[in-house]
Amino acid sequence: MRLLNAYYTGPASVEALAERIGRHYGDVLIQVFSRSRDPVMVRHLVSTVRQRLPRAVVIGMSCYGTVADDRVGRRDTLLSVLLFDEARIAAASAAVGHRPEEVRTKAAALAKGLDRDHLRCLLLLTNHDGVDAHAVLDGVRSVMPTTPVAGARAGVDPAGPQRSLVWHNDTVTERGLVMVALAGEHLQIRQEFNTGVAPVGRPLRVTHCAGSHLMELDGVPVLDVYRQYLGNDVARSLPGGARGFPLLARRHGIDVALDALEYCEDGSMRYSGPFREGEWVYFSFPHAERILTGASELAGRLQEDGRLDALLVYASASRLWTLGEGAGMETALLRGAGPVGGCLGSGEFSRVGNVNLLLGQSLSVLGLREAIGVDRQSPPAEPPQVSLCGYGVHVRTVRILHGMISRMTDELATANQVLQRERTFYRSLIEEMIDGLSLHDEQGRTLYQSPSNVTIHGWTADDIDEVEHPLKLIVRADQAQFRRAWCRLLSQPGARKRVEFRMRHKQGHEIAIEAQVRNCLDIPEIGAMVVYFRDVTEIKRLEDELRQLATTDGLTRLANRRHFLERTQQEQRRSSRNRQPMAVVVLDLDHFKRINDTLGHDAGDRVLKSVANVLRAEMRDQDLVGRLGGEEFGVLLPETDLEGAAITAERLRKALEKHQIRLRDGSPLRITATLGAACLPGGEGSLDALLRSADEALYRAKRAGRNCVRAAG
Ligand code: GH3
Ligand code: MG
Ligand code: MG
Repeated sequence: MRLLNAYYTGPASVEALAERIGRHYGDVLIQVFSRSRDPVMVRHLVSTVRQRLPRAVVIGMSCYGTVADDRVGRRDTLLSVLLFDEARIAAASAAVGHRPEEVRTKAAALAKGLDRDHLRCLLLLTNHDGVDAHAVLDGVRSVMPTTPVAGARAGVDPAGPQRSLVWHNDTVTERGLVMVALAGEHLQIRQEFNTGVAPVGRPLRVTHCAGSHLMELDGVPVLDVYRQYLGNDVARSLPGGARGFPLLARRHGIDVALDALEYCEDGSMRYSGPFREGEWVYFSFPHAERILTGASELAGRLQEDGRLDALLVYASASRLWTLGEGAGMETALLRGAGPVGGCLGSGEFSRVGNVNLLLGQSLSVLGLREAIGVDRQSPPAEPPQVSLCGYGVHVRTVRILHGMISRMTDELATANQVLQRERTFYRSLIEEMIDGLSLHDEQGRTLYQSPSNVTIHGWTADDIDEVEHPLKLIVRADQAQFRRAWCRLLSQPGARKRVEFRMRHKQGHEIAIEAQVRNCLDIPEIGAMVVYFRDVTEIKRLEDELRQLATTDGLTRLANRRHFLERTQQEQRRSSRNRQPMAVVVLDLDHFKRINDTLGHDAGDRVLKSVANVLRAEMRDQDLVGRLGGEEFGVLLPETDLEGAAITAERLRKALEKHQIRLRDGSPLRITATLGAACLPGGEGSLDALLRSADEALYRAKRAGRNCVRAAG
């Protein structure tokens, strides 16, 4: 396979080219690249070529410049000829309408017609503005999802109307597409691209868009964004003014430059590709040094397995605006990898990873080689050195960039002030906080604690360092549960948990803490476990006191009637579950009224307290003694049968009988009590019935003369 480049200067140049080609029996593809947008002229040019080279397939498009090896021409018309040995080409073209759906269907039909064995690549040429290039790619993908595409979108004259032409043999169209299938068992292809576009400034969020139309960035109308960052001059002359400052968006893992194509009446701007709401974009510019270093690396990659027969290059017109006279340097860097032919257009088709994309602001290369029984392995050529000396970056670009950077710097300064103010505000909020706040690493070591912490527990950060680990400040009995909660939270990013524990105050006493621990390890700005906490010692004490008041009898400190009945109820449920007996003993003091009547109410109270002490002392821990009312007491005996209850009752009776009460004046007083016992064997039966039978037993005992015990049943 060979690639020959010739500039068209008239019929004689075609004749000379034909002679250079000589006898060739394989397929011939001639790409004609011209600045012309005049269909009559183009038809004449193509027919001159076809008359002299009738077997060749002629395709082409209007472009912004031509590329032949290291020469990038602005005004030339280039005939770039590919002479295939064995590989076969097939071309097809179609005019298409406006609607993307139609473009998609036509592209799919054309591609389907070109499908063949050993198809290696599809070369695509489309108009600049008349055809939705993304719809073309969609159509191709629908029939051949794995076939790589190369080629370009026509270039337009930025000064003239946004019109372009593409052609295929006798067909010249303003709204169409040309496809060439490159197929061959021994045809090898290699695709690479170089962008060299550098983002500048801060990211902008797409807040309103519809397909390729952009309405708002960061909630600001797109025109105002251009005015704000690129200046009034640029904003006044959109879209041409923004030429060379595309928006950079991430597509399939690479940065794709989207050029502004049209400023529409509705205030939106149309770009060379679609946007998605919520995505981030950057203003960007083709960075001369990056372009050249990128090209040098690209040349290295192309040569990895030897020189190629032909490099079809489709580059963005911005190469000329950015590199000016030095534009040829980029393609010169590729020369070692193979002969170069191509053009400057307005969008480059290339396969990136496993998708075909329309790139912008790039130089895309389709490397071709026919390896028929020939060992082409040759050592890669030394990559040429890149030097930026000798030409300057476009003055206009620098001026606009300077403007953009100084505006963004102003914005940053303002944003910084706002941030500083907010920082002071939040810092003082934290410092004024009554509750505690501390940040810890995964191991629990303290990274930060708010000033209020010292007020709460007395320990400064230095003190905590000295005790080695904050966990040691928690009372031993509560450490395990705290450690368990901590470990569970570590495995749940974002989760929070409430924990209560007691800790040692620096002054030695114990305080109760209620804390909320939150795993903020995966929040980059925090990256810590956050503990909010407060001292609940006083609240706990009041709670305990209230609980005490609600459950005990004020005079005797025994369980009050309500609490006694609740506990008896609970015990009955438990006994019934475990099929165990339970018993109740009721006790009533004998002739108590007389004490009140003869010694006074105070003495009566004293007697009641004294009786309560005797009962408390006599009973086991699992038993509960309560004051049921007046001078009547109840004893709950879990896991006890009737016989056991009667024995206990008798023991109590004797204890009271023996007990001597000292009245206030020191005189002794003895009392007796009468008791009734009842039992629920196996926990079965109603609580009311149990209490009733204990009462009945008690009354029987009273009737029997008092100071004795009776058991129910
Ligand atoms: P019995 O042997 O039949 O039980 O005779 P009793 O006098 O103990 O019988 P009764 O139930 O008629 O008397 C109970 C008395 O207990 C009536 C009441 O004045 C007295 N009482 C009830 N609650 C209190 C109290 O809180 N303090 C004092 N001091 N007396 C109380
Ligand atoms: Mg009584
Ligand atoms: Mg009594």
